[in-house]
Amino acid sequence: MDFRLSDEQEMFRKSVRDYVNRELPKSWARDLEKDEHTFPHELFGKLATAGFHAIGIPEEYGGQGGDIMTQMLLARELARSLAGLTWVWGITSFAGGKSVGIYGTPEQKQQHLPAIAAGREKWAIGFTEPGGGTDVLGAMRTVATRADGGWVINGQKTWSSMAHVADYILLLVRTTKDVAKQYQGVSLFILPTASDGVTIREIPKLGMRALGSCDVFLNDVFVADENLLGQPDQAWKMLLPTLNNERIMLSAFCVGILDGVLEDALRYVTEREAFGRKIGEFQALQHYIANVAMWQEQADLIVTKAAWLQSRGLPCQREATMAKVIASELANQAADLGIQILGGMGYSAETDMQRYWPQSFKVPEVRLLIVPLPGFGCDVCLAVGAGRAVAPGVPGSAPAPTAPGVVLLPSAGAVYAGQAGAGRAQSRCQQVRKASFQGQPGLILRMRWRA
Ligand SMILES: Cc1cc2nc3c(=O)[nH]c(=O)nc-3n(C[C@H](O)[C@H](O)[C@H](O)COP(=O)(O)OP(=O)(O)OC[C@H]3O[C@@H](n4cnc5c(N)ncnc54)[C@H](O)[C@@H]3O)c2cc1C
Repeated sequence: MDFRLSDEQEMFRKSVRDYVNRELPKSWARDLEKDEHTFPHELFGKLATAGFHAIGIPEEYGGQGGDIMTQMLLARELARSLAGLTWVWGITSFAGGKSVGIYGTPEQKQQHLPAIAAGREKWAIGFTEPGGGTDVLGAMRTVATRADGGWVINGQKTWSSMAHVADYILLLVRTTKDVAKQYQGVSLFILPTASDGVTIREIPKLGMRALGSCDVFLNDVFVADENLLGQPDQAWKMLLPTLNNERIMLSAFCVGILDGVLEDALRYVTEREAFGRKIGEFQALQHYIANVAMWQEQADLIVTKAAWLQSRGLPCQREATMAKVIASELANQAADLGIQILGGMGYSAETDMQRYWPQSFKVPEVRLLIVPLPGFGCDVCLAVGAGRAVAPGVPGSAPAPTAPGVVLLPSAGAVYAGQAGAGRAQSRCQQVRKASFQGQPGLILRMRWRA
């Protein structure tokens, strides 16, 4: 496999880096993040001026085109400086550009894509609910009921980033209650945030400062039929392929963070002195730097592979999901080590290490991942980190049920080892399939990425 960038891609990467260094430097990103509750409209505008919102949108709709490889390069270069603020570009690109681009009617595309490309529309994503985000379908209480000419929506979303400034929220809602499987009967709506009955409140948080993540209260909100995206009740099937795009984007953000950590660490150890020498001359610190460089290379490889597969229309769910886990884990480790390398300055708000760390929260701690595993003939749910894997309805094997219908799996080392545990894995797989885990046939693995 040849992962070298084409001349065109290399030129694009370089032009983005030059623009970022000139117009979106780290020092500016640091200033923007100081004010947690002020959305950086100027940054959104600069991204529009540079044409970045137009990337990934077809030229016939005023976009610049560009496949996932181009988006990956852009995400990485932005994140090197903007870190968590990269989502100022990413959310609208995914929720608006990607979703409307794939599933929109001709009228929806005509209405939204040129506006997104020109930076006139901001979008947010409303999937997670207060009852839980990992088991997003099981926790979903927001419902839409049929009304004359549209739907009436009631419920609440949480953590919807940028909702307070967005023009539209890509909203996941239950439209049919009596379904055999949880993944059936959910629909996507393009919800104008200016609709009557929508109330939005910001949530104070650790990282991704200035972006604003919000509770969204929906009280008898009318949404017209033309704002339904795709087919009613089919949202889950629609989301699965577009989520690969989101996974690769998030992974690319993490590679950008690794780039930022490495360059800042290298600069510091060649400038700072202790005991009469540059601290980079101490072997312990050289090992730290070498570790970050190795993690950067590892993350880059898996992310590039996932993007490369998707750009060729090849299946990439396994690689995209792994990329997201690996890149986020490594970025977090690197940012952590970066703080150590800078000593006290790593903790100072005058440097960027402390910015990288909260942006690269370890995905495994908050995400349940669905990975197709060749050989088992089924999907695999990787429940990674955060203690034990929890599988609704999986009997046996557990120390004790934590709640009715919920059982803790023991360490799944044998399963992860693959061949030796294949028999057990297969039988667990069947159990999980019966439990319709997140609507995905699969088995649950607990993988320990850290000792
Ligand atoms: C900064 C930020 C921005 C966000 N932006 C958005 C947004 O724009 N739109 C949106 O819709 N959502 C957004 N989210 C929500 C995010 O997707 C959820 O936080 C995530 O899905 C996890 O859901 P939860 O927080 O409810 O955790 P829970 O689902 O309550 O999980 C709690 C813990 O239990 C673990 N866990 C759960 N199930 C299992 C299992 N089967 N096995 C093992 N462990 C398990 C989890 O890993 C986690 O450690 C955002 C979150 C954050 C922090």
